[in-house]
Amino acid sequence: MTAPIDRSTTWPYVDGEPGAFSYSRYSGPTLVEAERRLGELDGGEALLFSSGMAAATSIVLALLAPGQTVALAEGGYYGTGVMLDELERWGVRKVEFDQTGPPPDGVDLVWLEAPSNPFLTMPDFEAAAAHPARVVCDATAATPLHVRPLELGCDIALHSATKYLSGHDDALLGATVCANPEDNARLREFRMRTGPVPAADTAWLLLRGLQTLEVRVARQTATALLIAERLRGHAGVTVVRHPGFGGLLSFDVTDAAAASRVETSTQLVVNKTSLGGVVSSIEARARWEGDRVPLGLLRLSVGLEDPDELWADLEHALAQA
Ligand code: PLP
Repeated sequence: MTAPIDRSTTWPYVDGEPGAFSYSRYSGPTLVEAERRLGELDGGEALLFSSGMAAATSIVLALLAPGQTVALAEGGYYGTGVMLDELERWGVRKVEFDQTGPPPDGVDLVWLEAPSNPFLTMPDFEAAAAHPARVVCDATAATPLHVRPLELGCDIALHSATKYLSGHDDALLGATVCANPEDNARLREFRMRTGPVPAADTAWLLLRGLQTLEVRVARQTATALLIAERLRGHAGVTVVRHPGFGGLLSFDVTDAAAASRVETSTQLVVNKTSLGGVVSSIEARARWEGDRVPLGLLRLSVGLEDPDELWADLEHALAQA
């Protein structure tokens, strides 16, 4: 019923040769079980990494060469652009594009985000799949319950499993799910050689989280739809963004000062970063992203609290703005 946690870092050779498992930087039984289950959900071959950014960085370093260019969905996770900028001195180039249309010609990797965080746009999957380059889709905010990128023509699904997949704000974890076994083999080789591999306990927390993924995300979606509707009817809110599924939304109040008053006035919703946990969280994204986002933009990750209590908390906080 419950997968065991095998914390071994090394396993005995079999008849003098490495068996299925030999050293935990290569892999281990708990990782393999979690990868099997995530691979089933996304319809491909899964690999776990020590964080979402470790998975993302591994894709770039393992599958691209110096001088090659990534077309990155604009308005997507801030950290992905920062990571690509960090790799610029290793010859990786970045151009940003509007993912609701076709990716630019002449790039070597297309990087989508479904939905983008915090702008909540969805990619044009058909246009991306028609592009000759490899297509990666970061589906962290959607989860395989709402978007299965490989079925939509992408080559690699990417997850920060830190968020909804593990789901309780207690596991830092990333994952790739590849359509193509050669991509998966190359990423596995890269992970083994460079070491961004998670601990067995963390992989086990993913196994635990996946058991309740469907009920968590269904409840978070239902509550987010309700909150989005009420925010749209609120006089103090100028824009509401929600793709119609999932527990992540963002909305704008007039300016940075108003956003600061809202985020520090909630009592149930926690003022903190990250998303995808069972506890609702809110933050003004400008603290991280500067004027790349509207200064009054608040990102809300809806948890499992009672929807009316959540709304009452937000309404009270908005009254302080
Ligand atoms: N992708 C998205 C959409 C994210 O929101 C995040 C983190 O917030 C990441 C990737 C990075 O994941 P991690 O924090 O697990 O490294």
